[in-house]
Amino acid sequence: MDNGAPLQPVPDSPHRNPFTQCAACESALQSPGRESVSFLLLDQFTIPLVGCDNHLEEFCSLCGLATEGRAELLDHRPAGGVNCPSCRHEPHKSHQRIVPVGNGGLAVLACATHQSDILSRFHTGLQVRQHLTSSLDGAPTDP
Ligand SMILES: [Zn+2]
Ligand SMILES: [Zn+2]
Repeated sequence: MDNGAPLQPVPDSPHRNPFTQCAACESALQSPGRESVSFLLLDQFTIPLVGCDNHLEEFCSLCGLATEGRAELLDHRPAGGVNCPSCRHEPHKSHQRIVPVGNGGLAVLACATHQSDILSRFHTGLQVRQHLTSSLDGAPTDP
């Protein structure tokens, strides 16, 4: 287990992602390997993701707001594996779609179909959260 995160600075890389201001996300994205991939289980989906723990958690909880079921985050490959064959092969391809989450950015290593599925959950989750926050913060406007 290599869980003690080394506190070395992330080297400035030419592939620096404009979205990502989170050094931990950045370093996860720089070294996508088997160990750095986490899996989001949401409804019938199993989506491989790369990012730091904090932002993975945030992504997971936001997606959870957009589903009746529950969103769960695994830091290892789930027992059944990834059930979509296209998603399974996606981590081996070079292109990554980076999703800005807070001040970080996650790579969604899913096939195009599941990428858009999970991103629409994520955006719904953002809206739900915004709604929740604004109704908590703001003065009650309900009649
Ligand atoms: Zn991060
Ligand atoms: Zn897929």
